[in-house]
Amino acid sequence: MYPLGGFEQVGRNCFVIEVDEDIYIIDLGLQFPDEDMMGIDYLIPDISSLKGREHKIKAVLFTHGHLDHIGAVQHLLPQLHFPPCFGTRLTMAFVRKRLEEEHLTSKAQLNVVEFRQRIRIGKVEVEFLRVTHSIPDSAAIAIHTPSGTVLHTGDFKFDLTPMNEPPADFHRFAELGDAGVLAIIADSTNATKPGNSKSEKEISETLHGLIRDAKGRVIVSTFSSLLNRIQQIVEHARKYNRKIYISGRSMETNLEIAQNLGYLKVPRGLIRKVGPGMEKLPDKEVMIITTGSQGEEAAGLARIGLGTHRHIAINKGDTVILSSNPIIGNERAVAKVINNLHLLGAIVKTNQELALHTTGHGYQNDLLLMHRLVRAKHVIPEHGEPHMRVAHGDIVKSIGYQDNQVHLIVNGEIIEFDGNGDARKSKSKMTVRDVIIDGRGAAGEGQRVLDDRKIMSSNGVLIIVFRIYSESKRLVGDPEIIARGLLYGSEQTEITREVIDTCRKAYDEELNRGEKDPNAFKRAITGSLYRYFDRKLDREPMVMPIIVEV
Ligand SMILES: [Zn+2]
Ligand SMILES: [Zn+2]
Repeated sequence: MYPLGGFEQVGRNCFVIEVDEDIYIIDLGLQFPDEDMMGIDYLIPDISSLKGREHKIKAVLFTHGHLDHIGAVQHLLPQLHFPPCFGTRLTMAFVRKRLEEEHLTSKAQLNVVEFRQRIRIGKVEVEFLRVTHSIPDSAAIAIHTPSGTVLHTGDFKFDLTPMNEPPADFHRFAELGDAGVLAIIADSTNATKPGNSKSEKEISETLHGLIRDAKGRVIVSTFSSLLNRIQQIVEHARKYNRKIYISGRSMETNLEIAQNLGYLKVPRGLIRKVGPGMEKLPDKEVMIITTGSQGEEAAGLARIGLGTHRHIAINKGDTVILSSNPIIGNERAVAKVINNLHLLGAIVKTNQELALHTTGHGYQNDLLLMHRLVRAKHVIPEHGEPHMRVAHGDIVKSIGYQDNQVHLIVNGEIIEFDGNGDARKSKSKMTVRDVIIDGRGAAGEGQRVLDDRKIMSSNGVLIIVFRIYSESKRLVGDPEIIARGLLYGSEQTEITREVIDTCRKAYDEELNRGEKDPNAFKRAITGSLYRYFDRKLDREPMVMPIIVEV
């Protein structure tokens, strides 16, 4: 078994289990880019190691409907030749939605499974177990193989007082533990945090108090997949006679899917899209649920804060509730939005001062409870950056696991099991590179595009157009220089002159040597300019020579 993503980052989750020749894949997720990734859309798992073995893939199993677990399906299912997919009802509805957007649904084999149902797929039996997380219908997946049971927890926490949903299937986890589990692959996201994760019930109570006491309108911003939280907000709104307006495309889509499948229970007519006419209602009868809790510039909350939302302007005395936490890297953007809302006269409530958000990932005690129930022979900490997985390894060692039972691997590294249930890291490794999705661009070329953007953004671009006679190949006048983000006013004239001289000289040298290949000319020009910029400015711009015959 080996991860193809998700072991060096939070995101891009993909774990592969091979049983003899058969292949089982758990999750096909995306990873949102870091700030230094220059505007790319996202990254997806590298499945090149499965090339040529597509017919051996027996199933893709999805733990839950978050994008870091299903977000790459529309790119990867076709490449994997559409193997059968399995997941719980809401999860598969979100998978279907992603495929629909690319018109791929008719080719996909989507199977909905019930919790605790055992499904035979090839040589194994697969079973989905209920866990609590921050989206309904989240599952851990047990794979009963001839060499033992492997349990993948998916994203989970143990919420003893969840809202609108049953708690995790403690009993079944314990039963699996009794029967014996060979290996557990378990969520490490919050393994650095001591204690227990906070319950959704506490959040609901805080929200209730704020909604009850609000004098003006209430605007709540939260994640559109936090459907049980949204259900609570809807119920509090109903209780205090507020009509609900929805802002943001992902919020609209997700609530529609959830309502159709019965995961969000709302009387007809209570929820409406924001639009003209909503200002006719008294402020005390209005509740708005919006996206944008991460400070995203294009999303509802940021636009409300900037006063550029088409239908919602802050009235003095409106209560704005951020039922969320900024994800690492988004803190500045969120703070900006909060400041703007304050300036407009809103009363802003955040998780800083009140219990308005809780994680979907277990803290140390949640993780230890899982390990106490399951008592797997081997532990493979997953879902997270190396420091999170190391922390997870440390806490399981604190309850008696030995070094040879805890396996810290990175993407592409392989853990093999022998007939005795012993495990070892293989010497070979699967190829795992960054596969980038940027607009509709081909996935494979992503790295080059990203590298180019990095060079351009930090060092600028220089385009040099050479006009040459088609017969003699001699230059027609000076090359033309187009520079962007590279030269400052005072140095411009001097450097432009020197650049022209440098690349003219390089061109003529190649020509006099009898060179004919245009690419050789380009290489010579680029090389001479790199040396020049390195010496002169200590910079490394992107150099693009273009040769035009006239
Ligand atoms: Zn998740
Ligand atoms: Zn996740």
